[in-house]
Order: sequence, then structure tokens, then C-alpha cells
Amino acid sequence: MNKKCLIGLTGGIGTGKTTVSNYLATTYQLPVLDADVYAREAVELGSPILDKLFKHYGAEIRLPDGSLNRRRLGEIVFSNPEQKQWLEQQIHPYVRDRFRAELTTLTDSTVVLVIPLLFEAGLTNLVTEIWVVSCSAQQQLRRIRERNNLSPEQAQARINSQLPLAEKVARADVVLDNSSTLDVLLRQVDAAINLALAYVK
Ligand code: ATP
Repeated sequence: MNKKCLIGLTGGIGTGKTTVSNYLATTYQLPVLDADVYAREAVELGSPILDKLFKHYGAEIRLPDGSLNRRRLGEIVFSNPEQKQWLEQQIHPYVRDRFRAELTTLTDSTVVLVIPLLFEAGLTNLVTEIWVVSCSAQQQLRRIRERNNLSPEQAQARINSQLPLAEKVARADVVLDNSSTLDVLLRQVDAAINLALAYVK
């Protein structure tokens, strides 16, 4: 059987996952599958999961046009870990199934799976190697504050809702350190992807 390299690209919020996956797609023409796309698809207008959420949380998470009020849902689950867990139990299996379905249609020997919650959602068995993009806590805070226009408290709360970055780094096969310039990051990506491509050749 041909060797496959399924790269699970993860890291903390705002550490540089999208920067890395865009580079792998454009420079190495690798197919990129994105968990966030499937998670959004899971709650599209008319989806059975969305109906289940309306039944569970009530009309307050429904916008006048029948779509999901993400902001309201975010407020509910953010302050309530049990509700967050329930919500994730609805979404994660769908995301896993979508990855599996897409992977069966792709013949490429190397595929990038961007999965922000790779560890938290227990999706590590979908991939053959785990890449974690990391940077310092201060840089992470600054980058997401600047990009999303958040207060320090809001940015910190988002960081705290994920598994600590140090734990992700400890479980990585490849660590991409994004504490310096973009160029420094991309040269690490070159080294890591060339190793992976040599393995499947
Ligand atoms: P999220 O988890 O929120 O989706 P992400 O991990 O995909 O984020 P990116 O969107 O790639 O992270 O990067 C976060 C922000 O930091 C972006 O605005 C990006 O342009 C910026 N950034 C990434 N790497 C660097 C760098 N080395 N130097 C300066 N800014 C950077």
C-alpha cells in the first residue's frame, strides 16, 4: 500500500495555523481540509444539528431568518462548561465524518488537516503526524487582540478556553515556533514538509 502523510495542523488560537496552511496550499499545492469549515457547515440553515440546537437552547439562539445566532450561543456556552461540552458533542462527530468522507475522495499522498481543537476534540487518530504552531503567550495575546479587536480580558478568556499551548507542544511530532518573523516560520515549514514529502515518495 502507498504511504500516506496526513498532517494534523494545530496550535493555540492566533498562533499562525492559517498562515502555515495557506503557505502549504499555495507553495506546495497541498490539499488543505479545514475543521472550521465543517463545523460551520454542521450548523447551516436547515441542518438536523441546527434543529437539535434550537430544541436544546430555545428560540434565543435563533435569528429572525432562522439561522443560528452565533454570538448568543457563544455567550451561553462560554460561561457554562457543561453546555459547551454538550454543544461540542453535537458538532465534533459531524466534523470527524466530514474529514473521513473527504479523505476517501482524495488520492494525494500528503494532505493537511487544519484542526484547531485536534486534541480537545479527540481527533488525533485522523492524522499520521501532528504539527503544532506555537508562539509566546504575549505574542499570542497581542496577535488575537489586534486581529479581532479584543480587550486583554476577552483575548485571555479565549486562550484559556483551550488546552494550554505547552501541552499541545508536548504532544506534537513537529513544533513550528512562530515567535519570530514570518520568514523564520516559513523556513521551518519548508524543512518539515520536505521531510514529510520525502517519506511518502
Ligand atoms: P485562529 O486560531 O484564530 O484561527 P491562526 O492560528 O490561524 O488563528 P493566523 O490567522 O495565521 O493564526 O495568525 C494570527 C494573526 O497573527 C494574523 O493576523 C497573522 O497575520 C499574524 N501573524 C502570524 N504570524 C506572524 C508573525 N510571525 N509575525 C507577525 N504577525 C504574525
